[in-house]
Amino acid sequence: RSPVPSDIEVSQQIVSEVGLLPIADLASEAGLEPDEVIPWGFSKAKVQLKTTLDRLKHSPDGNYIVCTGINPTPLGEGKSTTTIGLAQALGAILNKKSFACIRQPSQGPTFGIKGGAAGGGYAQVVPMEEFNLHLTGDIHAITAANNLLAAAIDTRMLHEDSQSDEALYKRLCLSGKPFPPVMKKRLVKLGIDPNKSPEDLTAEERAKFARLDFAKETITWQRVLDTCDRHLRKVTVGKGQTIQPRGTVKGETPREEHIRETGFDITVASEIMAVLALANDLPDLREKLGNMVVGYSKAGEPITSDDLGCGGALTVLMKDALLPTLMQTVERTPVLVHAGPFANIAIGNSSIVADKLALKLAGEDGYVVTEAGFGADIGMEKFFNIKCRESGLKPKCAVIVATVRALKMHGGGPPVSAGKPLASEYKEENIPLVTAGCSNLVKHIQNAKKFGVNVVVAINQFKTDTAEEMNAIRDASLEAGAFDAVVSNHWAEGGKGAEALGHAVIMACKANDETNFKFLYDLNSPIREKVETISKEIYGADGVDFSELAEQQIRQYESSGFGNLPICIAKTQYSFSCDPKAKGVPKGFRIYVREIRSCVGAGFLYPICGDIMTIPGLPTRPGFYDVDIDTSTGQVLGLF
Ligand code: ADP
Repeated sequence: RSPVPSDIEVSQQIVSEVGLLPIADLASEAGLEPDEVIPWGFSKAKVQLKTTLDRLKHSPDGNYIVCTGINPTPLGEGKSTTTIGLAQALGAILNKKSFACIRQPSQGPTFGIKGGAAGGGYAQVVPMEEFNLHLTGDIHAITAANNLLAAAIDTRMLHEDSQSDEALYKRLCLSGKPFPPVMKKRLVKLGIDPNKSPEDLTAEERAKFARLDFAKETITWQRVLDTCDRHLRKVTVGKGQTIQPRGTVKGETPREEHIRETGFDITVASEIMAVLALANDLPDLREKLGNMVVGYSKAGEPITSDDLGCGGALTVLMKDALLPTLMQTVERTPVLVHAGPFANIAIGNSSIVADKLALKLAGEDGYVVTEAGFGADIGMEKFFNIKCRESGLKPKCAVIVATVRALKMHGGGPPVSAGKPLASEYKEENIPLVTAGCSNLVKHIQNAKKFGVNVVVAINQFKTDTAEEMNAIRDASLEAGAFDAVVSNHWAEGGKGAEALGHAVIMACKANDETNFKFLYDLNSPIREKVETISKEIYGADGVDFSELAEQQIRQYESSGFGNLPICIAKTQYSFSCDPKAKGVPKGFRIYVREIRSCVGAGFLYPICGDIMTIPGLPTRPGFYDVDIDTSTGQVLGLF
């Protein structure tokens, strides 16, 4: 239809006028056997991982394509829309077996500033309401598992502080049962070192941390919630939870509170989300969940989820979440939805298992387009250096999405403010702005080529774009070494609009030489050096500064044997630098590492750079103001 209706109207129109392919038929067309799918209502199904992968063990993989973008701007670039549009073109138009692998949206931004993440226009996953809200409960499962572990930490500390070793041992071996076998260290007292408030620090520690506004942290495990609730960033837990100090007589001495400072992250930033994205199968999920380090003992030993006796229960909570969810696009292309967004504060890639399943189902002549979130400087870098290293999979092509409007902003176009009309620069032809902004795209192309893959630029067309503007992008891309650069109009026309992009991607995959594929850094180089390599090579920084806390953490991780993990940097998505306002290709800046968390289970170290927050806030005008329900039909209104 023209003009293209809103995303939710397109979705509801497709569902009511064209109809969805029944989920069993969709699964069958995707190459799944009836016993390999667990239907979840009419439009979704969980896919049995082991049965399917065992059956297809000897089948060849399809062509693996990663879809990423330039640094995002408030104007929207359309990475998800392009991922879906490209899969539609390869499938419905070019008659290849094709899959899209995308991430489950977080409820935080769905009701905050971004809206949904099902793609848009005639390149989206349907029904978008079901895709955007709850899906099949994976994020809820992560919240449940994460918070069970958080409760286990505080409870264990409470019990250890209030009981003698013998009393605690007796209670752990309830009525003659053996010491819980799941507790790996087999210690009655783990002696977890709680976070210290500045008053608790020794004079020496205080001098060391004097320049920091937060206390020494040994417990890095936080609680999580899938809501943009900024008021939970720092919380005090344990109020009203009192203990009787040991050796005192009941009732005679005042009881002490057992409180400590901690905080919340958004669920998608939980290490458990990263474990889900990076697990290769159920045994690997179990191992990774058991190995997660939550903090350190007073003796400086890392304490894991298995030490707390939690790894088994967490895996049970996560066992269904490990199965990717099958859905369809408006053109009935199969889509596997799995793991979560937020490449700025998390790994932000869809899961290894979804990609592996799709590659087997696609087969030798088929194509799998997987999405790496936000700008290629974070999402794609993590895709290559962390996800591909863990999975052993080698992509054949990277698609980088750019738009005329966003490049104009990178070229110095005026800021965009919510509620104000878009400046004329974005609606009328302006070649100098586009050309200047191409510097951002060019740097991403050069970065992708460092990994040895062919790069295709997808120019996601908006209706105000002119041919000259799009040509300027194409010229700059080819000059920077892109394999091809193609205008794509899938948002308005569906798969047909992305036919040329599909062709270009097929050619890029055919021309790819897998032996060129390489990682950016060696895992065995020191932590500092790895962070510096990413910062200099990918962001273009002059160097990296580490806070004293980060320095101390580097020493702790290297001495605990975690020094050889890959690096998952948390930083703003809006710029190559730590300053979200620095557009284009900033120069002469340094990266500031505030702290480094460890995600030993998921298998990476997590430096937090600049002032990035691990739980976002809601804007003044959040998306949920527009959301309502038609109570006569039950139809959801106003999601975008
Ligand atoms: P990203 O993945 O980069 O965050 P999305 O694909 O989620 O972006 O798209 C964000 C929004 O922009 C969606 O509402 C989508 O409908 C809209 N959009 C994407 N491409 C276009 C386009 N070519 N023209 C108009 N709107 C578009």
